[in-house]
Amino acid sequence: MIKEKTIEVKVQKTSNSRIKELDFENLYFGKVFSDHMFTADYKNNQWGDAQIIPYGPIPMSPSTSALHYGQAIFEGMKAYKNLKGEVSLFRPLANHKRINISAERMCMPPIPEEIFLEGLRKLIELDNNWVPMNEGSSLYIRPFIIGTDEFIGVKPSDTYRFYIITSPSGLYYNRPVKVLVETNFIRAVEGGVGFVKASGNYGRSLYPTKLAQKKGYDQIIWTDAQNHRYLEESGTMNLMFVIDDVLITTPLGDTILAGITRDSVLTLARDWKMKVQERKISIDEVINASKNGSLHEAFGTGTAATIAHIAQIGFENINYDLPEILPHSFANRVAKELENIRRGRVKDIHKWMYKIL
Ligand SMILES: *Cc1c(COP(=O)(O)O)cnc(C)c1O
Repeated sequence: MIKEKTIEVKVQKTSNSRIKELDFENLYFGKVFSDHMFTADYKNNQWGDAQIIPYGPIPMSPSTSALHYGQAIFEGMKAYKNLKGEVSLFRPLANHKRINISAERMCMPPIPEEIFLEGLRKLIELDNNWVPMNEGSSLYIRPFIIGTDEFIGVKPSDTYRFYIITSPSGLYYNRPVKVLVETNFIRAVEGGVGFVKASGNYGRSLYPTKLAQKKGYDQIIWTDAQNHRYLEESGTMNLMFVIDDVLITTPLGDTILAGITRDSVLTLARDWKMKVQERKISIDEVINASKNGSLHEAFGTGTAATIAHIAQIGFENINYDLPEILPHSFANRVAKELENIRRGRVKDIHKWMYKIL
């Protein structure tokens, strides 16, 4: 339970709740938003003015700096409701830590923990009836910070606004995905901002992804910027492979977003005494493993999808099919364990769940 923190939050409730329009049986990802949103403002070198207001359009000047120079960062996290109706967040302190890593790289002020956590708690308390209970669904939470100066000179904004919006969501992918190894475009370079959840990283990814989708793939696998040999991430997910009996994933660094799902999966694998390697993995290694039958599983990890099984990997006009996904595969077992932890059905030994209601 979060300790009662002392920040004051002004609350303006909507007089027109939209909850009646929500169909809990048919939730998609990120399409409908709960009744309220949280905001806080940074000015005169400090955060303040915490408030909850009805979800809706945000008035802004056309010269708002974030629109021009990309001082815009975000997080993605989820809240879960268990059978008793209790609501918990999954590892929110990790999201708080990461948004401040993003903020530092983008020359933005860190958001204090009490504003981040108390904003989440108060907002979700008010919109509690928007948190889905069905298996596989959850409340997706999008905290974000933007520079708000009305100024189009290139410099860090002096003012910022922090928002939290929430969206009841179902499964992200409902079937295994086909991915194309991208050897032309890049997502991130050493010294760049690949490790930052900055909006510009996603805008740049859309065009290469669209080209891959035209060829029938769902997503791309990004490769290293120098040689396009080493596999980095897939879309907005970290990548994992099971080759022989070893779980392999790319090590963290400048070009890799430090996924909280990635960390959770690695932690469970180590708990289960599985061999884990955080090291570079090349496309040649994956293709060889596919050819000799030692590539058993490939999947992406991320908050939105949790685990996305990969059914096929395309590289240089050849498609490599992954073996059939068995019920007791590592990816399935770890996805189930994470769901059990989130629903409070198994002991939360790592204290990942953060009860807020
Ligand atoms: C958000 C994100 C991930 C996954 O991070 P989680 O904390 O697991 O949600 C992976 N890669 C990129 C590029 C991302 O933006």
